[in-house]
Amino acid sequence: MLPAPLTMQVRRGAIAELGSLLTDSRVATSGRVAVAVGAGQGDKIATMIASTLGEAELFRVPDGSVDAAVSLGADLRKGAFEAVVGIGGGRTIDATKYAASLAGIPMVAVATNLSHDGICSPTASLTHEGGKGSFGVPMPLAIMVDLDFVHDAPPSLVRAGIGDVVSNLSAIEDWQLAAAERGEPIDGLACAVSRTAAEAVIGRADSIESDAFLTVLAESLILSGMSMVIAGSSRPASGGDHEILHAVDQLYPGTSNHGELAGIGAAFCFFLRDDTQRLAQVVGCLRRHELPVTPGDVGLTEEQFTEAVVLAPATRPGRYTILEHLRLSDTEVRERVGAYVRAVGR
Ligand SMILES: [Zn+2]
Repeated sequence: MLPAPLTMQVRRGAIAELGSLLTDSRVATSGRVAVAVGAGQGDKIATMIASTLGEAELFRVPDGSVDAAVSLGADLRKGAFEAVVGIGGGRTIDATKYAASLAGIPMVAVATNLSHDGICSPTASLTHEGGKGSFGVPMPLAIMVDLDFVHDAPPSLVRAGIGDVVSNLSAIEDWQLAAAERGEPIDGLACAVSRTAAEAVIGRADSIESDAFLTVLAESLILSGMSMVIAGSSRPASGGDHEILHAVDQLYPGTSNHGELAGIGAAFCFFLRDDTQRLAQVVGCLRRHELPVTPGDVGLTEEQFTEAVVLAPATRPGRYTILEHLRLSDTEVRERVGAYVRAVGR
């Protein structure tokens, strides 16, 4: 039996009609609703929803930190709200998700960009003094993506979501490898949902200028999050590709965003598997959408990327992927990184 959001809408004008969407979907019927917005677009959103969600109390989320989420959680508990709506990009949504779980109330996610698959995932990625942490939370009760806002979002942040969803293909290979080598139980439905989401995006010729493309990308990112809910872990959407991205984040914070690094990680993992067909397909997709492919594309030297690949397995102890399977020495990793850059570089 599957948990699923009450309602899921990907379209233009979702935020402007938020009030009726909430009532129609029975998310909020009588009680008070809190709305959490980010620092950047907060004022614009507040003006837009003032007429339809007049009684809602507005909260600002300064950043995607644990502190911001805990402080919002305390406010939500004090106000005895029926639900909280988090409107914004990944940071605002993640902070609101965690705050809602602390306050014990349902959360509605309204995404204004498509930078990663956290829109619907059962985890919140938040920053703290020690770096970044992933916190388990309930899945949002309802999901909306406002394509008007996505069109206005920085293009690089929207493209990044393509890298995150395509990396599912690599994560599933890793899961199947772990099943074959280690007898790890595999969830067929989670694989099907995660893989189908990636396949829907990878071959498309259009890009983020098109509403049709953005709709498929948004749906794929939501399905990707759902696959993690079905699996009960991030397994179907996070393999060696994400281990590499977490290592880059640890060693060289601020190098690039989640989705861009996931795309590079996935391409490199397919190179390690000697899967030339998938490698060409993934690299072709990343290039078509102007996403980075080589370490140099995000300003890393081959040596820095080598260090990240060496560190990668330690970022996720217990997860068996192509990296743990090959157990390459530092020298071998250095050679493979060099060969990867020569194989895919332009
Ligand atoms: Zn991801």
